[in-house]
Amino acid sequence: MDNHKDIIIIGGGAAGFFAAINIAERNPNLTVSLLERGKEGLQKVKISGGGRCNVTHAEFVPSDLVTNYPRGEKELLGPFHTFMTGDTIDWFEKRGVELKVEEDGRMFPVSDSSQTIINCFLEESKKHGVEILYGQPVTSFSKVDEMFLVITKDNQFSCNKLIIATGSNSKIWNLLKGLGHTIIKPVPSLFTFDICDVRIKDIPGVVAEDVEVKVVDSNLVSHGPLLITHVGMSAPAILKLSAFGALELAKRNYNFDIQINFIRYEAESCKSILKTAKLQLAKKNVVNTPQFDLPKRLWKNLVVASDVSDNTKWADMNKKQLEKLSIQLTEAIFHVTGKSTFKEEFVTAGGVDLKEINFKTFESKLISNLYFAGEVINVDAVTGGFNFQNAWTGAYIVSQSV
Ligand SMILES: Cc1cc2nc3c(=O)[nH]c(=O)nc-3n(C[C@H](O)[C@H](O)[C@H](O)COP(=O)(O)OP(=O)(O)OC[C@H]3O[C@@H](n4cnc5c(N)ncnc54)[C@H](O)[C@@H]3O)c2cc1C
Repeated sequence: MDNHKDIIIIGGGAAGFFAAINIAERNPNLTVSLLERGKEGLQKVKISGGGRCNVTHAEFVPSDLVTNYPRGEKELLGPFHTFMTGDTIDWFEKRGVELKVEEDGRMFPVSDSSQTIINCFLEESKKHGVEILYGQPVTSFSKVDEMFLVITKDNQFSCNKLIIATGSNSKIWNLLKGLGHTIIKPVPSLFTFDICDVRIKDIPGVVAEDVEVKVVDSNLVSHGPLLITHVGMSAPAILKLSAFGALELAKRNYNFDIQINFIRYEAESCKSILKTAKLQLAKKNVVNTPQFDLPKRLWKNLVVASDVSDNTKWADMNKKQLEKLSIQLTEAIFHVTGKSTFKEEFVTAGGVDLKEINFKTFESKLISNLYFAGEVINVDAVTGGFNFQNAWTGAYIVSQSV
């Protein structure tokens, strides 16, 4: 093996493969090698989106797309003008992979299998002569004169240009720190909230379609569907908060209160709707006549939490009970005691400081010919295919730049 390469990419994940393929396709005369520590690459792609790989999101306006990135919103605006959702769809389509859109905007391969994406990447790598070297954990890299020296467990390589696509890997972040880069402290993002509360006990699987969730004593607020789980709450309303609040919630050691408006009405409007129900449904049991399209079991738990017994009729609801029920529906407080992994997608906030990257090229501002793509930089997004879009965009721009 000739150990000098024109270009080395460290990390055989989404960003690493996408960069390698695009570079090799544009530059057939260059030697392009990808060093992956594992026996296989693309492990996260494989398990992504519950095994279906949520490749991107059907959002086609750069200024709207960036709002899904708690870290990277400002910096990704320019890059998205170069390569974003439509380009991702085209890229895969040209290579025989058709994507489909789901109701919530998430895009998956039509096959509903992440293996389709993996097969595409492996075939394209082969076609364009990317050398993929597995079992090569990089232990150090440095710049000597105008070349990089890259050392793996049992090999040594040199190259003219080096691309770091190692995701959230603390060893590589430490090496980058050694070269002078600032690494923003990593904290988890995209997690669900652990809540032990009688109002959500025994109703896992129940979904409230459109709620507002606020973290008490903060500016953190989100809207969307909310899912009751066996251990707490999940779904976009919660996951968005976990992403936008990643730093704040870590500081609070994942111990905080949230306030939920289950119906998105003000407490006063809610009260007057309940008063109308009192008149119109006078002879009916309150627990059996859910209002505001709330799921029956959630409605029942909120009614009981308002000191209204199982057999209370609407006509018997007193002022205090109406008041309490409207508070439960619009300003219910829940205590969060911890976080759990959201199995369909999770990421780490933190990584290479964005101030030290030139977003026209994704090149380091400190070390020339050193590039970054994917989660290694301090960019992360809410759930829905946006994290992969960051990997595709960064990797594509690197391929243009080198
Ligand atoms: C369970 C799960 C599901 C997800 N689902 C989705 C989804 O559906 N949609 C979405 O947009 N996002 C999803 N994400 C997030 C997405 O997977 C990541 O944002 C994306 O994989 C980042 O790509 P990357 O190439 O930067 O890093 P990675 O995919 O993590 O790849 C980094 C690669 O570098 C290798 N590596 C690390 N250190 C070294 C070293 N020292 N030497 C050599 N190689 C090294 C690793 O082995 C790995 O192969 C999911 C994440 C998880 C955990």
